[in-house]
Amino acid sequence: MSGKPRVQYFALGGTIATMPAESGAMKQGLGADDLIRSVPALADVADVQGETVARVGSSNLTVDLTLQLAQRIEAVSDAVGVVISQGTDTLEETSFILDCVLDARLPVSLTAAMRNPRLTSADGAGNLLASVRVVSSPWMREHVGAIGTVVTFLDHVFAPFDVVKSETSRIDTFRSPATGPLATLVEERVVPLSLPVRDWKRAVDAALGPKPATRLLAAGRKPVALLWAAMDDTGGLLDALLADPRHLGYAGVVFAGTGGGHIAQDLVERVVTLNRSIPVLVAPRTGAGPLLASTYEGAGSEIGLRKAGLIFSGRLHPLKTRLLLELLLRAGVDRAGIARVFAACG
Ligand code: ASP
Repeated sequence: MSGKPRVQYFALGGTIATMPAESGAMKQGLGADDLIRSVPALADVADVQGETVARVGSSNLTVDLTLQLAQRIEAVSDAVGVVISQGTDTLEETSFILDCVLDARLPVSLTAAMRNPRLTSADGAGNLLASVRVVSSPWMREHVGAIGTVVTFLDHVFAPFDVVKSETSRIDTFRSPATGPLATLVEERVVPLSLPVRDWKRAVDAALGPKPATRLLAAGRKPVALLWAAMDDTGGLLDALLADPRHLGYAGVVFAGTGGGHIAQDLVERVVTLNRSIPVLVAPRTGAGPLLASTYEGAGSEIGLRKAGLIFSGRLHPLKTRLLLELLLRAGVDRAGIARVFAACG
């Protein structure tokens, strides 16, 4: 016992947890205890207790695995906060699911690494230490209910609703284009910059009810297809979804529309027909910025699509719109309830 506050650490794999393979490439391998041992400075901040949940590249993570992680976090009783490490590739998605389903009782921070442990200036150790600092900080303790789950990366703290992985390889890949970071780390301090707007979270809580992870897991998968508006698309994927009475197994669709929420006129009739059977949501293809409501007329415009009954995702990124729609469908929320939640998304 170090006398330091206890932090619970879950390791899921990713570049931060890789080790050299015989081929010379990197492979998954390090567990939570290896990672704790590799950062001796952690002991100056907290008594970090680790558990290895998975050793996978993050493109293999799933909604179910993330909900199981949420259950584990809910069961943590004797720690001041929780840190999770995983791959960067899906960090914006897992962190958003956790932010949707956790009750913000305990500080939770996700982190990762862009440079593997063999490279000069590997960032994993610093990111892990920063994450532990963040969840142990007085700022997080005091404001956790208003902040929710966070992503800590390269000495910045981000809100999952806004953060995106913006580049394949740059070390400063994580950004929140619309809002910027919530806090920055300097010396040994977490310096607050802003508190996130959380109207969307209150709407999600009202729709999903308290501690939803176990119920959402029991409900089983409700897959949501993600279609991206692209110039001169034939709409072949829409045809396939419409032709199959089970819609290829999808329970909903997110259509990443251009600009303020537009779809090419040629596709509109098919999108609207599909929306009669399963919910089709429009999200911003730009990845950030509120969708329009009342500027352009015409069938494929935001006015036309809203009039035709499509639900707009506010300013939520298509990847996160897809995940939130799946959570709402798992919870059995009807279209009016889905519309209420997304109306609170900006
Ligand atoms: N390149 C990834 C990473 O940053 C691999 C992954 O997401 O697992 O960890």
